[in-house]
Amino acid sequence: MDLAELYRDVIVDHNRRPRNRGRLPGATHRAEGNNPLCGDRLHLEVDVANDVIRDLRCEGSGCAISTASASLMSEAVKGKTRAEADQLFGAVHRMLTGADGSDALQLGKLAALAGVRAFPARVKCASLCWHTLNAALTGSAAPVTTE
Ligand code: ZN
Repeated sequence: MDLAELYRDVIVDHNRRPRNRGRLPGATHRAEGNNPLCGDRLHLEVDVANDVIRDLRCEGSGCAISTASASLMSEAVKGKTRAEADQLFGAVHRMLTGADGSDALQLGKLAALAGVRAFPARVKCASLCWHTLNAALTGSAAPVTTE
């Protein structure tokens, strides 16, 4: 199995069985995300205490990339501080938009989304959940849209 196959399998797995799905009673932060280009919609609920993301849940409907990305993100940021989540967001953003692939090494499973870079329209699908998380953590009341 080469790396491309491995990455594809990760995305298929997280699309079929999204992790941290549903609502989170007692969430301290929440936000809505919308990617009208593709029709992806996301509702995110986060429980933050002492600056640590203790738990989070994603709910919504969207394409395989947006669903898998939200699932992968939920696993990646759980237990992280806000600063660490911000750093991950930066690394994911560079991976999805930049030519520099060096961040992929520290991204773990999130690197499965690196192939999206070749499809600019799908970059918004993959980054929607991260923008939504950012909005939730910064307390932005306005729904996030990728437009
Ligand atoms: Zn999409």
